[in-house]
Amino acid sequence: MYRTHTCGELRIEKKGETVTLAGWVQTVRKFGSITFVDLRDRYGITQLLFSESLNGLLDANPLGREFVLQATGKVNERSNKNPNIPTGAIEILVSEFKVLNKSAVPPFTIQDDTDGGDDLRMKYRYLDLRRNAVKRNLELRYAVNRSARNYLHENSFMDIETPFLIKSTPEGARDFVVPSRMNGGQFYALPQSPQTFKQLLMVSGYDRYYQIVKCFRDEDLRADRQPEFTQIDCEMAFVEQEDILQMFEGLIKRIFKDVKNIDYTDVVKRITWEEAMWNYGNDKPDIRFGLEIANLKFPKHAFPTREAAIPNPNKVGAAEHIALESEFAVFNEAETVLAIAIPGCSEYTRKQTDELVEWVKRPQIGMKGLVFIKCNADGTFKSSVDKFYSEEKLKAIAEATNAKAGDLILILAGAEERTRKATSDLRMEMATRLGLRKNDEYKLLWVLDFPLFEYAEEDNRWVARHHPFTSPKPDHIEVMINNNPLIEDAAKYLEHPYSNIKANAYDMVLNGNEIGGGSIRIFQRELQEKMFAALGMTEEEANHKFGFLLGAFEYGAPPHGGLAFGFDRLCAILGGSESIRDFIAFPKNNSGRDVMLDAPSSIDDKQLTELQIKLDVRL
Ligand code: ASP
Repeated sequence: MYRTHTCGELRIEKKGETVTLAGWVQTVRKFGSITFVDLRDRYGITQLLFSESLNGLLDANPLGREFVLQATGKVNERSNKNPNIPTGAIEILVSEFKVLNKSAVPPFTIQDDTDGGDDLRMKYRYLDLRRNAVKRNLELRYAVNRSARNYLHENSFMDIETPFLIKSTPEGARDFVVPSRMNGGQFYALPQSPQTFKQLLMVSGYDRYYQIVKCFRDEDLRADRQPEFTQIDCEMAFVEQEDILQMFEGLIKRIFKDVKNIDYTDVVKRITWEEAMWNYGNDKPDIRFGLEIANLKFPKHAFPTREAAIPNPNKVGAAEHIALESEFAVFNEAETVLAIAIPGCSEYTRKQTDELVEWVKRPQIGMKGLVFIKCNADGTFKSSVDKFYSEEKLKAIAEATNAKAGDLILILAGAEERTRKATSDLRMEMATRLGLRKNDEYKLLWVLDFPLFEYAEEDNRWVARHHPFTSPKPDHIEVMINNNPLIEDAAKYLEHPYSNIKANAYDMVLNGNEIGGGSIRIFQRELQEKMFAALGMTEEEANHKFGFLLGAFEYGAPPHGGLAFGFDRLCAILGGSESIRDFIAFPKNNSGRDVMLDAPSSIDDKQLTELQIKLDVRL
């Protein structure tokens, strides 16, 4: 037997007992004729005390960092207790020990605050994983995994595996492909998600399916994306959107409870995609704080059904028609003018407002400038556009933005998309500066009614915003079927009826992150065929790519829908981290490389020959 206890479990109650521990040497401290060793394993650290009588043996077997050591001895009460660790009241008076394996000097310290840089830690990830900080992240990941499985199992979901070597059925991103040796010249694709399989399982009658599953997308890796990532993938048959929303709010609430001991009792807020865009400037708003955006001037074609989405038409209308009327060319020429009232910041100094102007001019934000209005405590106003606006007009703008005395109104103007994005970024930035994005606060949100289509400028055609299996809202089906998808004037694509079609699609948002998304699916062959046609696929193409699904829809496909959660992201948020990499045991870097394995790498000529592949460029 290598050990009787772990390095994390001994307490003062075991005083006098003889125990054997095994683990890694974290530190060796010699004091005259005695030596202290901190022995570490997955469960904790225990102090070993080597007395004078073991000196000779220690000299013959010098211990180094990360040596694997087995030590036997009596549990002793420490004179100098360490209240910071659970085993801090005891130590082991070593009577016997054995070095089970030596270690080279590790390239960085295996401690909470390591001296190793990112690249080095990734190259030696097996050492990095010994660190507490990383271990805690993996423990949290496992806890989320267990909690999800328990909840889904209790709700009759069945975990069914689906294949990784499949046919290329693009879902928006590029597929990773795998050459087939046995079928020369042909390729499998790795799934971007098990989407079509889970739908087929519904056709097969497994009406509640889930899988915690790897998905593969060959995308250019923007910050914090991984080419392979994990989803909690779910599908249900005989459901409407409402059933799905409730089931999966339940899942996330259960995870909050099991993993963070949080009782999330709030009603999960629901807003439409249009509301999200109007009031927050993006489709995954952080609602831990308000700072809602006021639309002071509407772009002509921004969202065709905007009237329905404006939360307070009077408020916005007032500003649109009265407050902005002036000689101020910037506002007059801008496609859109957006404002946010920042509470309690009216006393910003010139230096502070200048700094904000510089902030919006950064290339990542890309605005030409920032207009501000200070709503003074005494009810007067001071603005950077005093020349153009009377006190009365400034007051009207302040009213339109819901600003109170003491607030600072920030206004951005320009082209629709950029201005909206910049205002959204500014909102987040101000919230960060004001400490409104608290790590220990969680706010869930459903964003509903996404557009069904998105216009792809490069190909002048419609693409599915979610994926081609998402159903249109029932009363929008006619619009889809009865209109030709052709876009005659690319500049006027927003006037095409397709831009107005909404989908039965929903995203779950947590603290400004999209943590999951899904839809109610199309389940009739004819409608699915119409959808493929709307996306510009010929009948042959549709049959070639998705013939199996269209075929299955002929054999009694039930109504169904589902969603998938981004498991890595969910863990990162619950762990209070910005980076999903910290929650993946063996992640890839931003170029999609595994620096530990040194993958991807070239393969030898024999392999290429077997695969009947000739490379254009030999590396
Ligand atoms: N397969 C979808 C995705 O990966 C999720 C879903 O619609 O269920 O985004």
